Amino acid sequence: MSAPARAACIVGWPVAHSRSPLIHDYWLRRYGIAGEYRREAVPPQQFAEFVRSLAARGYVGANVTVPHKEAALALSQPDEHARAVGAANTLWLDGGALRSTNTDVEGFLDNLDACAPQWDRGLAKAVVLGAGGAARGVVHGLIGRGVARITVVNRTRRRAEVLRQRFGKAVHPVDWADTALLADAGLLVNATTLGMAGQPELPLDVRLLPGHAVVAELVYAPLATPLLRAARGRGLRTADGLGMLMYQAVRGFALWFGRTPEVTAELRTLLEADLGSSADKAGGIT
Ligand code: NAP
Repeated sequence: MSAPARAACIVGWPVAHSRSPLIHDYWLRRYGIAGEYRREAVPPQQFAEFVRSLAARGYVGANVTVPHKEAALALSQPDEHARAVGAANTLWLDGGALRSTNTDVEGFLDNLDACAPQWDRGLAKAVVLGAGGAARGVVHGLIGRGVARITVVNRTRRRAEVLRQRFGKAVHPVDWADTALLADAGLLVNATTLGMAGQPELPLDVRLLPGHAVVAELVYAPLATPLLRAARGRGLRTADGLGMLMYQAVRGFALWFGRTPEVTAELRTLLEADLGSSADKAGGIT
């Protein structure tokens, strides 16, 4: 007798533009798993009830996207990643308990490992642009890899200072105008929304980076942001936002469907085609 089909979903408000169903449907097909991954548009006032009734709704777990990530943390038993970042994007039922994690942390790191092997070897300083939710995941991940100095540059300086309070003395808040900060940066990460379709370009000259620097972009719509194009033009190693999007999905699939999936070239092609054909091209949410 075959095992009963399992189901998971992505919960957001709105949720129509999410690429997560494409990713999980691809893996379900690839591994011949009789499971389902659905979209659930749930407004904030109904989120707590939805999460508490996940099992009754037939779900073994869920991805959580804007604007529910902080609420998901509060309603679940978070692991160390979700607690450190202050937001959860993946939920799963573990016996009677609802557990959570934040897979942006491993998505960011695994993508860098795949695109720029040994990027952290001898890395003395990283520069992170942005201080929002994504930047928190990046900073937590970099600290976990032992990066001793993380310069955080943010339009609103106060938010960068909050990251220092949260993550400690490895974090150094700096102003945008300080261009000297790039000269010794072994890793540059764009965790702002700048460079996204419909947003201004990131005002940054990649020629100020050293020749060994790696550039990681979190924005994935467009696929090749002006930052990535400039970095590749200079011959720097890069990791793009689409790669992170794929890698952050791995853990949820493994937890819900019992198999650790592979990030394949075929999956990337599928997502690239979808991003290329989508009318808004803004993407934006996982
Ligand atoms: P968020 O919490 O809203 O933070 C946005 C960040 O962008 C803040 O640091 C904000 O600065 C900065 N920013 C916005 N407009 C700006 C402008 N005009 N000039 C300078 N800085 C500006 O968003 P988030 O959740 O951290 O997401 C950030 C980006 O990461 C988004 O593009 C998102 O799609 C992407 N992301 C990608 C993945 C992936 O898997 N690839 C995962 C997560 C997020 P202030 O603090 O001054 O407002």
